Amino acid sequence: IIEIDKVSKRFGQLEVLKDLTFNVAPGEKLALIGPSGSGKTTILRILMTLEQINGGHIKVDGEQLWHMPANGGLAPANEAHLHRMRAKIGMVFQLFNLFPHMTVLRNVMLPPILTQGVRKEDAEARAMELLDMVGMAEKATAKPAQLSGGQKQRVAIARALALQPKVMLFDEVTSALDPELVEEVLNVMRRLAEETDMTMLLVTHEMSFAHDFADRVLFFDGGRIVEEGPPDQIFTNPREERTQGFLKKVI
Ligand code: ATP
Repeated sequence: IIEIDKVSKRFGQLEVLKDLTFNVAPGEKLALIGPSGSGKTTILRILMTLEQINGGHIKVDGEQLWHMPANGGLAPANEAHLHRMRAKIGMVFQLFNLFPHMTVLRNVMLPPILTQGVRKEDAEARAMELLDMVGMAEKATAKPAQLSGGQKQRVAIARALALQPKVMLFDEVTSALDPELVEEVLNVMRRLAEETDMTMLLVTHEMSFAHDFADRVLFFDGGRIVEEGPPDQIFTNPREERTQGFLKKVI
């Protein structure tokens, strides 16, 4: 469902991604691990069309993510194209970005109304179902300020799911949380992974969670994939020295 082919990305002089190539199959659960600065977040932001690329090709759901205009730059073909591509992908960030002045329920029901023209009653019913799934139905009328970090993050997951994306991206969703709140968020994601056939990409520093969650693990270093494989192989028997060194430090 995702094809990434020789993608390169620079920030000024800094080459953050170098000829990055990998595919993601429909329904696959992928974990991206690796040292800080290795480009994991950048590739998620590119998929979310929050960053442009300097070279290469990306297809999502059979459609080219960036159109190549005559000047050789890479840009979305037009607003409609960008809108269509963004609708395919949902993302949950490290820092919960809920609308602070709205209730939990409105946070989850509003995006489908605004961006997809879903009827209010339908959006509300679906939002309540999702809040129930993430264990937040009782807090539907609360404002984000009244919630713990773990609760906010569960609402952020429900909100991303409300748009029914084909692919969900999770970027270090637990790293801003107090340790005792991490588990409740991971449990929601674990259930999602087991119960849905949605394609999911996860950037995480929680190695034991990556092990449970993923069908396949990609180890990034220096803007490249150094090693990939099933979690059992990567975590218990990594082939590459750099993977071994990284895991020794973080586990
Ligand atoms: P972490 O685990 O710390 O989140 P990461 O593997 O996700 O690391 P990225 O966030 O993708 O790494 O960043 C890769 C590199 O690109 C880093 O050196 C970072 O400082 C740099 N970078 C990211 N965004 C920008 C930006 N907007 N402008 C300039 N440099 C950036």
